Amino acid sequence: MSDGGRGTQRAATRAGLDVAGLRGEFPIFAAMGPRFHYLDNAATGQICRAAAETLVDFETRARANVKRGVYRLADEATRAFEEARARIAGYLGAREAREVVITSGTTHALNLAAHTLCARLHPGDEILLTCAEHHSNIVPWQLAGRRAGAVIRAVPLAEDGRLDLDRLEALVSRRTKVVAATHCSNVTGALTDIGRLAEAARAVGAVLVVDGAQRAPHGPLDVQALGCDLYAFSGHKVFAATGAGALWIRGELADELPPFMGGGEMIRRVTLEASTFAPPPHRFEAGTPPIGPALALGAAVAWLAGLDWPAIHAHEQRLLERLLEGLRTIRGLRLLGPADTRARAPLVSFLVEGVHPHDVCQLLDAFGVCTRGGHHCAQPLHEALGAEASVRASIALYNDDADIDALLAGLEEVVRRLA
Ligand code: PLP
Repeated sequence: MSDGGRGTQRAATRAGLDVAGLRGEFPIFAAMGPRFHYLDNAATGQICRAAAETLVDFETRARANVKRGVYRLADEATRAFEEARARIAGYLGAREAREVVITSGTTHALNLAAHTLCARLHPGDEILLTCAEHHSNIVPWQLAGRRAGAVIRAVPLAEDGRLDLDRLEALVSRRTKVVAATHCSNVTGALTDIGRLAEAARAVGAVLVVDGAQRAPHGPLDVQALGCDLYAFSGHKVFAATGAGALWIRGELADELPPFMGGGEMIRRVTLEASTFAPPPHRFEAGTPPIGPALALGAAVAWLAGLDWPAIHAHEQRLLERLLEGLRTIRGLRLLGPADTRARAPLVSFLVEGVHPHDVCQLLDAFGVCTRGGHHCAQPLHEALGAEASVRASIALYNDDADIDALLAGLEEVVRRLA
C-alpha cells in the first residue's frame, strides 16, 4: 500500500510556504485548470494525492474485509486499518490508538456520542450545547436526550458574535451531565475556548464532547491539552475521501460506555437471549467499517502531520485578512459574526443586501468561484445573528491570492448587477 508521507515534505518548508507545491499535491487543481477557485472547504476539502492513491491502491490491489479473515490479504487489510487508526490517534494527540473509533464522519460520531452518553442520563439531567452548533451537534442530543428525559440548554451569543462564555457559571450546575460544543463555528469561523468549557464541565463532573469538524483541517490537535472527553471530525474535510471520520473517546470513559449500534465484530459472545461486547474501540464499530476511506484518512493525516503548520497558519490568516479587507470595501455587504481575525479559522459568512445567497453563489460560479449559500446546517446560529441564510467562503491550505481576488471581483459584479 502507498505510504501517506511519501515525497511531500517539499510542499511546506521552514523557509516559507510553497503554495504552488502544496496545490500540486491535490490532483483536482491540475484537472480543473487555473480558473477554478475553490472556496467551499468548510463543506468538503479536496482530496490530497496521498489519500487518493491510498484509496485506489486498497480498492484495486489490496481489498479484503478487516478483523475477520485469516488469509494473508485479510490480515494485511486489518494491519493497514489499525495503522490508519494509529495515525489518526497521532494527529489528534490521543494517548492510545484504541481511543479512536472509526466512524463514517462527524455526524455519525456525534450520534454515537449522544446515544451512548444519554444511555446514562436520568430525567431532569441537563445537556449544555451552544447556539453556534451545526445541526449534527444539536439534533442527536435532542433525539437521545428526549428518550432519557434530559433538558437541553445552550450558551448564547455575545454582542461580538462569539459565544458568551461569561454565562457559563449560570448555565452549568450539578444537573449538567454533558457539555457539547463546536471547536470552530462553520458559519463565523470563531474558535471556541474549549479550555474554559472543560474547566466548567470538570467542576460539575460533566463530560465534554467537542465537534472538531471545522478545526481538524487546520492542523494537528492535542485532545489531552484541550481537556475534552470526546472529539469528532470528518475525513473529507481533512483532505481524505468521503465516508470515514473518527471519534476520539478518552480511554477510561470509553471502557464504561455501552455500544451504539449492534452487529458483527462488536461482540464478545452472542446467544439468542443476550450478548456481551468487545472492548473499545471495536464495541463502537458494528459491521464492516469504511475500510478504504479510513486508510485514506490515515494517509491524509500522516501527510498533514508532516507539514509546516506555523507557515500554513500564517498563510491562511493572511488570506483571511485579504478577504475581510476586500469584503469591507464592497457596498451593501454585511459580515456575520466577529469582525476581527483573532481566534478564528479562515472562513467568512456574509450577506449581500437585497440578493439571495443562492443567487450570489450562482453568479460567483460564473467566475469560477465555488462558495456556499444557505443556512449551512446552523439555523439557530443564523437566527441569533439575525439572518435566514448567508454566503460562506472558506479557505484551506492550498488557496492563494488569486482565489480571494476572484471572489472579490465576482462579488463586485454581483453587487453591480443585482443589488
Ligand atoms: N459539524 C460541523 C461544525 C460541520 O461543519 C459539519 C459539516 O459541515 C458537520 C458537523 C457534519 O459533518 P459531516 O457531514 O461530515 O458528518
